[in-house]
Amino acid sequence: MEGAELVREAFRDAFGGEPELISRAPGRVNLIGEHTDYNEGFVLPVAVDRAVWVALRRREDRRARVYSANFGQWTEFDVDSPRKDPSVPWADYPKGVVSELRSSKLGGFDMAIWGDMPLGAGLSSSAAIEVSVAFGLASLFGMEVNGKEMALLCQRAENRFVGVQCGIMDQFVAVLGKRGHALFLDCRDLVYEHVPISEGVSVVVCNSGVSRELASSAYNERRAQCEEAVRRVREALPEIGALRDVSPEEFEAYKHLLPEPIGRRARHVVYENMRVLSSLELLRRGDLKGFGRLMYESHRSLKEDYEVSGPELDLLVELASSVEGTLGARLTGAGFGGCTVNLVEREAVRTFEEFVGREYEARTGIRLEVYVCEVSDGAKLEEGI
Ligand code: ADP
Ligand code: MG
Repeated sequence: MEGAELVREAFRDAFGGEPELISRAPGRVNLIGEHTDYNEGFVLPVAVDRAVWVALRRREDRRARVYSANFGQWTEFDVDSPRKDPSVPWADYPKGVVSELRSSKLGGFDMAIWGDMPLGAGLSSSAAIEVSVAFGLASLFGMEVNGKEMALLCQRAENRFVGVQCGIMDQFVAVLGKRGHALFLDCRDLVYEHVPISEGVSVVVCNSGVSRELASSAYNERRAQCEEAVRRVREALPEIGALRDVSPEEFEAYKHLLPEPIGRRARHVVYENMRVLSSLELLRRGDLKGFGRLMYESHRSLKEDYEVSGPELDLLVELASSVEGTLGARLTGAGFGGCTVNLVEREAVRTFEEFVGREYEARTGIRLEVYVCEVSDGAKLEEGI
């Protein structure tokens, strides 16, 4: 409850009096299925125990006053016409959500925000803030929004208002994640399934400390290359809509249609989708060793075929793999910098932290941040109606 108490304090300091309710939405880490979402494929994220909390109270007028305790900054706008303000860029997230809610029930409000996760490090604090705000506002004003709609609404807020072309995964798991479970998601039709993860392992995230600057231009380039691959494979298979529709057998039969590096890009996506489906089977059977092996394969494919890794991420995976008790390791997120995700037997977590942290710093001069995550629930109200 610490987060809820801190955001309540922030609310009192900023506005005086008590909030009517407090909502919470978690960050996430993707266990496997990288660069598959925009190819209408499969992903397997978990919600983690780092989150963004939002404390809310209705107002009599149609103003919104929003305070972020992380930034120590507040802003004010009209709920009927939120506009971007470059002096408070973080406010684009709550404003984006307000502009997508589009409900006659929405009124003015005071809102305090506080999160205990690193911003911009790859745990998707952006989805956490969007979902926490959307969930809190929908609850405060009695709007009926189901889980899928809420995730889509938050994705639209980020795509349109914030202007970041993210997929649906982050928002989806921030809404629908489940404690002790990974969330298998089909990014095409949003069919999903919760799969239990054994209590015996921890999800450990290592932040390489390397900025993801390169990531956005490379991300756009990879997206374009995947589209190009689809156009070319269509000469043989006119019915396909995305790389998701290409099976490994079809890929092997038609890869001659794909010049390099398009061929390798497509190979990553085709086989990564298969790895997610296999992971699902392995998890259902409780075969975490097998699952871990697929994580290593995913990393190799991201490094060699998709070419979105980097020396620091490779080093982190290599160091992790030399710790007894590490079942799997791979880069997670768009790549180039950011984080790795590791599946580590619980008894080995301390050794892992100690060894990987020490060696990484010795070889790169960068201090490693390690987040040992509990797999937690998606958005919920912590207090209130
Ligand atoms: P990531 O989603 O990987 O954490 P992004 O760059 O997509 O990185 O989103 C980070 C941005 O989200 C922050 O720079 C800030 O604008 C916004 N944000 C996240 N959490 C908060 C918070 N607690 N208060 C205000 N803004 C936040
Ligand atoms: Mg983000």
